[in-house]
Amino acid sequence: MSIEAETPIHRRPSVFDVTCVRLDFPALQQIIHKEPLAYLDNAASAQKPTTVIDALSAAYTFNYSNVHRGVHTLSQRATDAYEGAREIAQRFLGASRAEEVVFVRGTTEGINLVAQSFVRPRIEAGDEILISELEHHSNIVPWQMVCQQTGARLRVVPITDRGEVDLDVYADSLSQRTAIVAVSHVSNSLGTINPVRKMVELAKQHGIPTLIDGAQAAPHLSLDVGNLGCDFYTVSGHKLFGPTGIGVLYGRLDRLEEMEPYQGGGEMIRSVTFESTEYNSPPHKFEAGTPHIAGAIGLAAAMAYVEGLGLDAIEAYEKKLLKYVTRRLEELPEVRLIGTADEKAAVVSFLVDGVHAHDVGTILDQKGIAVRVGHHCAQPVMDRFGVPATARASFAFYNTIQEADRLVDGIEYVLEVFGR
Ligand code: PMP
Repeated sequence: MSIEAETPIHRRPSVFDVTCVRLDFPALQQIIHKEPLAYLDNAASAQKPTTVIDALSAAYTFNYSNVHRGVHTLSQRATDAYEGAREIAQRFLGASRAEEVVFVRGTTEGINLVAQSFVRPRIEAGDEILISELEHHSNIVPWQMVCQQTGARLRVVPITDRGEVDLDVYADSLSQRTAIVAVSHVSNSLGTINPVRKMVELAKQHGIPTLIDGAQAAPHLSLDVGNLGCDFYTVSGHKLFGPTGIGVLYGRLDRLEEMEPYQGGGEMIRSVTFESTEYNSPPHKFEAGTPHIAGAIGLAAAMAYVEGLGLDAIEAYEKKLLKYVTRRLEELPEVRLIGTADEKAAVVSFLVDGVHAHDVGTILDQKGIAVRVGHHCAQPVMDRFGVPATARASFAFYNTIQEADRLVDGIEYVLEVFGR
């Protein structure tokens, strides 16, 4: 049975019906502190639809064995499902070939893989790695490590007061010294959608390879890596309504072919003697050891589910949510929004006057509202805005206008508790 038969695209509504969609997510039906759960922490990790939970269960219940080279039926079923998952990921990302899809643990591993296997062998002391000021730590630290290992320099393009990458500075920063541009598609802490197509195009004019951190884009935007023209693109399954511990690194095939493996072990070889090893071809060359078989199958089920809803419908619906919640928060004089870019995903980071972000989060939780507080693994962004932490409400397609209202009511309650 193919994975698509196991995880059917069961709905392609002409009108996006959030009430119906919410029924697919068992976690959303819960009562927390006597209130219906309003889950607004999707940028950290998203809830899972039944179709994903069922795909994981089926993968372990009926179709489980190790993949590749098995002659027995269960191994063949598991291999078909695992490689079928790769094809669904290929389609979801708009890659031209399944070989361009490398299964990794998540965005963090994807970036580390490119840093160590692609950039490190090609970079020299004095060369530059170009990132932006709004990056997640996962798109900063792996590059710092390469810089320490090679004597290269990390160059950072600043962001404006609205949280947008300064494109003029970006364009001026590109040179023959630039070994790679690595930027996020969507900022997790600010919600900014970067003009990555333009950024890739500018980098290409200088022959500079590009990596796009798509951890926050994949759940919200229709992706087409071919059209984007980037060399690498990374996605995390758990933010995309799929399992933890699985993600995808897209790499253009010629890039993957010229790269050294990331780790050695089983699966990534063609032949081994004590004298030498011949490596397998991509993507297997980068998947040493037994992979997260069920994870890949669950991720493919999540991708098929999201495709079934339609990313255009998701985008349009989330735009409405963002516009509404932004307007409502702007009406509160005690709330300061951090990140007001023109192009944003449905993420609102904010400060409440005179109340620590952690208190905001704790009191909202008492009202059944889950938001994240802290630096969101983006300390340089916090430094840029001169704050130690923010509260962040991040929406997914299953959130509602009523939940946005509950967030605002909850903040008003926080203000009341603190006598503001
Ligand atoms: N980049 C961005 C923009 C993120 O939001 C995150 C997760 N918060 C990551 C990278 C890292 O993703 P993961 O922890 O799934 O590897």
